[in-house]
Amino acid sequence: MSTNQRTDTIYGVNPKTGERLDPGFPAADAARVDALVADAVASFARYRATSGPDRAAFLRAIASQIEALGDELITVCDAETALGPVRIASERGRTVNQLRMFADLVEEGSWVDARIDTAMPDRSPLPKPDIRRMLAPIGPVVVFGASNFPLAFSVAGGDTASALAAGNPVIVKAHGSHPGTSALVGKAVSAAAQQCGLPTGVFAVVHGPGSVVGSALVKHPGIRAVGFTGSRGGGRALMDLAAARETPIPVYAEMGSINPLIVLPHAIAHRGTAIAEGLAGSVCLGVGQFCTNPGLILVVEPAGGDAGAVGGANAGGDAGAGAGATAAFVSRLAATMEAQGPGVMLNRSIASTYCGMVARFASAHGVVTHTGAGSQEAGGGASSQPDDTGTTQAAEAGPDGHATVPPALFSVSADVFVQSPLLAEEVFGPATLVVRCADATDVTRCLSVIGGNLTATLHGDDEDFAGYADLVRVVEQTVGRVIFNGFPTGVEVCPSMTHGGPYPASASEFHTSVGTGAILRFARPVSYQNCPQSLLPAELQNANPRGIMRIVNGAYTRDPVV
Ligand code: NAP
Repeated sequence: MSTNQRTDTIYGVNPKTGERLDPGFPAADAARVDALVADAVASFARYRATSGPDRAAFLRAIASQIEALGDELITVCDAETALGPVRIASERGRTVNQLRMFADLVEEGSWVDARIDTAMPDRSPLPKPDIRRMLAPIGPVVVFGASNFPLAFSVAGGDTASALAAGNPVIVKAHGSHPGTSALVGKAVSAAAQQCGLPTGVFAVVHGPGSVVGSALVKHPGIRAVGFTGSRGGGRALMDLAAARETPIPVYAEMGSINPLIVLPHAIAHRGTAIAEGLAGSVCLGVGQFCTNPGLILVVEPAGGDAGAVGGANAGGDAGAGAGATAAFVSRLAATMEAQGPGVMLNRSIASTYCGMVARFASAHGVVTHTGAGSQEAGGGASSQPDDTGTTQAAEAGPDGHATVPPALFSVSADVFVQSPLLAEEVFGPATLVVRCADATDVTRCLSVIGGNLTATLHGDDEDFAGYADLVRVVEQTVGRVIFNGFPTGVEVCPSMTHGGPYPASASEFHTSVGTGAILRFARPVSYQNCPQSLLPAELQNANPRGIMRIVNGAYTRDPVV
């Protein structure tokens, strides 16, 4: 980061009113970034040496400090995000539960995956050495807070909790959409660090433009890994920056996802109405601002039925067999989505992008708009249109400056969908696209053009699954989580959760950003060969003083090595 780059003050903006929110927060300059990273690097030696119970106490103290912020946190966060006090209180609950989950994990200690292979000095033809392996922290981690989860995926969210739990200092680049919330939570984490007697460099929050402050952090040689939740463009830019460093580092980016939801023929024919109503709730939940929002609905039309077309004359494809059930499904979905009414998005930029994408879908070849047409005018403020190059340009905010948008529903044939890359793009917001498929081959064709996703959902009955087992095997190769007869929004935080998926859903399909497995992103294996007992970490010593589960000579045990 060059020293002559501009410094800014970052203000939140109320998405309901467009009003600027005070106070402002100074953007970090180059000297501040360098000082924070130096402090984090200096703190690492002391922090990595803390025990699991020490880190557990820190994580629990953070949770308590966040709870102690009380209603002020809810008020500030609601003003900055318009998510509403009920949702914010629930997200706060999730955030503190996550912190306590990681506290339990590291207090118990077996997460380090200790493996011990004792020596066989008499082995022929060569003696076998004593080798012991466990996971160890990596060093300072930069976390980019997410716009759509101001608490659970932000300053003290899952990335921060898992990185701290593993023994790494964390620097958070606050999201510019909620700087006040970020500052409050940042104070809570720093207070917890002080309360636990930890060095100051174990945690920091910085404000400032991603292209300046965020980039400087990712490029800084003292940083060892990055956690990110946001757009594909942002995540990809950080992946490229990290890869171009003299010493490349991993970026664990969770990016866009359209989360295909497949409705099989028996299910749509016999309970299409119920599926449509549940789906409308999932699409519109939180104004559609979830990475698990179902943005692509692949309907396998039942054989037979009447010949009513789903959309209209320009829908293309087969408007014959089974179209009656699909038409009824689409009609109920549209009506239920419309009934949800418009909602306020997180900020005008996100609303503007949403309206621009809705306008592009509505004017795309072969696409039928069932609801949401004209949404680019909605709210009088958030408007955008595609330019000549097809790039969406944010338009000026209207007089009210707010970010209100209506839901949008489109349909298209499978043939048109597979030939239209635009239709496979994420529309971040309360919008979804129904694709009419004739059979499993059509579904597979559609899946083949959309890339990796966080989730896929199948709605089917026993009659369906008997005939579509092969499709399940295809689906599971494209996502991190397969859901049966449910909806993808709502991510349970538990050890068995996978929240990640093949690129572009996430930068590393080998990892999850939710659940206890998230800690594995911020630790690396180290093996010790013929190491004296006195120099081994406690987890690998013969006596097993932490009492953790280990693999000793191939068998799981908590017993000491004798
Ligand atoms: P974003 O634009 O990707 O920004 C996320 C964070 O990354 C911000 O702190 C941003 O800083 C930083 N950043 C972005 N590009 C960067 C770059 N090239 N170099 C360094 N830092 C960079 O995401 P957003 O602001 O949350 O929302 C924008 C769009 O992202 C939405 O409209 C939606 O399409 C998508 N989104 C997807 C998900 C999901 O889970 N799939 C979640 C949220 C958003 P600055 O803001 O300071 O630039």
